[in-house]
Amino acid sequence: MLIRRGDTVVVIKGSDADPQHKTIAKVLEVYPKENKVLVQGVNVVWKHVRPSRRNPRGGRVQKEMPISAANVMLYCERCQRGVRVGRRYLPDGTKERYCKKCSAGLGTIGPPRKRRLTKVTTSAPSSS
Ligand SMILES: [Zn+2]
Repeated sequence: MLIRRGDTVVVIKGSDADPQHKTIAKVLEVYPKENKVLVQGVNVVWKHVRPSRRNPRGGRVQKEMPISAANVMLYCERCQRGVRVGRRYLPDGTKERYCKKCSAGLGTIGPPRKRRLTKVTTSAPSSS
């Protein structure tokens, strides 16, 4: 999978897809094992949650669900659309993704980064 966290992509399949391939969205998380990606504002579902410490009132919460990586295309700035992506090696050996349409570089991809253990802290309303 050539998609990385933080990439800008275009959703091409599913109910949140744009037939023109112009609507861009940000990749929040990738799941290489399942070949899935979590895209901001795409495949949003209502989760019905029980009251918990994190969510004291419970109820309905909106949340993105992962979609298949095959249903998104990496966005190319130069083409202004989602494009097919190839990989090539630069003279110094680093791997680079490139747009198969205009062959512009789309950023280098190195060995898998070490997973950061930073927890996302959501500011919950304090109950006083
Ligand atoms: Zn391009």
